[in-house]
Amino acid sequence: MDSKSFVTNAIKTESRNFDEIGSRMSEVRNQRLLHAGIGLATEAGEFLDALKKHVFYGKELDTVNLSEEMGDIFWYCALIADELKIDFSQVMDTNIAKLKARYGEKFSEDKAENRDLKVERTILEQ
Ligand SMILES: [Mg+2]
Repeated sequence: MDSKSFVTNAIKTESRNFDEIGSRMSEVRNQRLLHAGIGLATEAGEFLDALKKHVFYGKELDTVNLSEEMGDIFWYCALIADELKIDFSQVMDTNIAKLKARYGEKFSEDKAENRDLKVERTILEQ
């Protein structure tokens, strides 16, 4: 496939109702969540860059920088927690409960691939 055909076909599946998208983007809640989502992605990139420099370029692992990026990630998580009015400790408890339902006490590839999504959703909605 040539690149022009690829672009022509790709944009056929683009969500293009820009009036509705703009309306949703005008909501403060969505602005804050998008800010957090973009921030999480960029901070994850910074974390990975520090790890890349160590693993692939042989630089010393900068654990101070990794910790800094972890803090930056938490900062964006705080925006989400505030906007969704959820408590960090509740999110942590729910996450562990979901993982216990999925794996029991130990990870396995089989359990990772054969999840009971109904059970996990029930736990997440509690
Ligand atoms: Mg950072």
